[in-house]
Amino acid sequence: MNPYSRQSLNEADIQAVLDVLKSDLLTQGEQTELFEQELASYLGAKFVLVFNSATSALFSAYRALNLGGTEVITSPLSFVATANMLLENQAIPVFCDIKIDGNIDENKIESLITPKTRAIVSVDYAGKSVEIDQIYKLAQAYDLALISDSSHSFGGQYQGRKIGTLADVTIFSFHALKPMTTGEGGALVTDSEEIYQKAKLIRSHGVVKKTLWNSDVAHSGFNFRLSEFASALGRSQLKRVDDFIAQREKIARFYDEVFFENPYFDFLPIPVHIKSSRHLYPIFLKQKYWCAKESIFASLLERGLGVQVHYKPIHLLSLYRSYVASPLYCAERFYHAELSIPCHQLMSLEDARKSAENILNLFNTL
Ligand SMILES: *Cc1c(COP(=O)(O)O)cnc(C)c1O
Repeated sequence: MNPYSRQSLNEADIQAVLDVLKSDLLTQGEQTELFEQELASYLGAKFVLVFNSATSALFSAYRALNLGGTEVITSPLSFVATANMLLENQAIPVFCDIKIDGNIDENKIESLITPKTRAIVSVDYAGKSVEIDQIYKLAQAYDLALISDSSHSFGGQYQGRKIGTLADVTIFSFHALKPMTTGEGGALVTDSEEIYQKAKLIRSHGVVKKTLWNSDVAHSGFNFRLSEFASALGRSQLKRVDDFIAQREKIARFYDEVFFENPYFDFLPIPVHIKSSRHLYPIFLKQKYWCAKESIFASLLERGLGVQVHYKPIHLLSLYRSYVASPLYCAERFYHAELSIPCHQLMSLEDARKSAENILNLFNTL
């Protein structure tokens, strides 16, 4: 089975982890600090905190921004953690419809702003940046915080600027299937010292060290720390991430060429001002195939293609049904149409050719 995404671990990655396993410190040591410094320098950002998941990083960002009791405008087309962590902070998610590329529609945000709105959370679907400049301007005009859930887009760029420096807070995921991995893991990136300091306390019990054994706790916190061996893996992966992206870009461009103007489905074009991490390669079935999507999905699995659907929109999940006043047509159409096909750094162009052929053959028989 060729999965829609896969990690790539080489000997250097494995050795980096083994070295830490043989050392004295398994947690709270220099690997974590070095990983944070190297991430900050790769991204050109002031402050980076690594977490044991993007979910805990999201939680901490929302908590540091004090979003409890406020409304937060976000995308329905994300992994559920983006919205779950709002609920866990007692914030109210307000879902804004998306565009045909799966990203929040920057032109529909303003009409959802109320006196209770305090933040916007955008998601870089499939690794393609949102129109961040326009959204950032809007956030500034209404004094809202902009949080970018960039779990898909590590290493991506918008108009030549790295994702991670374009919002008030950016979140990355290092889950195994994301653009680079620490097994489980995530990062919070910000230029705000205040957000950084608050999130750092939330990450580790709220404990402020004083002298010797003396410490104090003024606000409670969690244990959201990343282990030393996971950090060491992250440092090693960071050296390879640009190669990963380049390989996924090759695969994606090959698909773009083969699938150009085929009668069955469309793909996601990436405009020149955006560098996508190509975390996912989504295809969008033409409407007449929507009814057959289940059987298409099952047949692709049978043919060894580990396809997936990203995502069932959050507002259609039972927990979230009460948070939507009117249907979100674009998100719902997107859900009918979308399938993610294999695109990852372990694939060769030959693998991509086989996968494309397999997919087109299947549609030919429908
Ligand atoms: C994967 C993902 C998350 C959660 O990341 P974890 O590291 O697994 O907690 C959050 N948001 C989006 C958009 C994701 O894709």
